[in-house]
Amino acid sequence: MEIVVATKNKGKIKEIREVLKGIDAEILSLDEIGLEIEIEEDGRTYSENAVKKAAEVAKRSGRISLADDSGLEIDALNGKPGINSSRFAGINADDRERNLKILEMMKDVPHGKRGARFRCVIAIAEPNGKSYTCEGVCEGEIAESIRGDKGFGYDPIFIIPEYGKTFGELGPEVKDKISHRAKALEKAKELIKGFKRSGIRGF
Ligand code: IMP
Repeated sequence: MEIVVATKNKGKIKEIREVLKGIDAEILSLDEIGLEIEIEEDGRTYSENAVKKAAEVAKRSGRISLADDSGLEIDALNGKPGINSSRFAGINADDRERNLKILEMMKDVPHGKRGARFRCVIAIAEPNGKSYTCEGVCEGEIAESIRGDKGFGYDPIFIIPEYGKTFGELGPEVKDKISHRAKALEKAKELIKGFKRSGIRGF
C-alpha cells in the first residue's frame, strides 16, 4: 500500500501528506524511492499536466502515483497566470519575485475587483497507464502586499475573504481544511478507498 507523490515541491508534499494522513497507505516522495526524474509540463490543461506527471512516475516506479497540477487564476488578468503560474515571471524567478510581479500588475486594480481562485487537479495513475483525476477550487482575493510567511508560492498574496487573512498568515491549520488542494484530495481519498474495495494492484 504505497503511493508515490510525483512532485519535488516540498510545500505540496507536506500538504498532500497532511490531508491524506487518515488513509491506509504509505505516502512516499520521489527522493524516498530514489527516482530522479524531470517531467516537462507542456500540457494545455492542469489535467493533462497532472496525468502526465502521475503516469510517468507510475510507469517508472511500478507503483501507484499521485500528482498535482495547480495554478492561480486572477479575474483582472483574464485568468492569468493560470496554467503558467510557475513560469510566468521567468523560469529562474523565485516565489517572492513571482508575488512581486503579480502585485505590480495589480497595483491599479481597486478593492472589489481583485477576485482570484486557486485551482488544483490531482491525478492518480496506475503502472498500467490507467489514470483518474479530481479537481478542487478555492476562491479568494489578491492582497496589496506580501503578508505572512507560512505556506509557499502565492500563499502570502492570496486572501481568504471569510478570514480577512492570506494563506501565508493563516497557515496549515486552516489552509489544509479549505484549500483547492485539500478539496481535490478529499475527492481523491474516495477514489483510493474505492480502489481498495475493488482490489486494484498496489492496494
Ligand atoms: P505547479 O502546479 O507545480 O505547476 O505550480 C504552479 C505554481 O503555482 C507554482 O508557482 C506554485 O508555487 C504555485 N502554487 C501551487 N499551489 C499553490 C498553493 O497551494 N499556494 C500557493 N501557490 C501555489
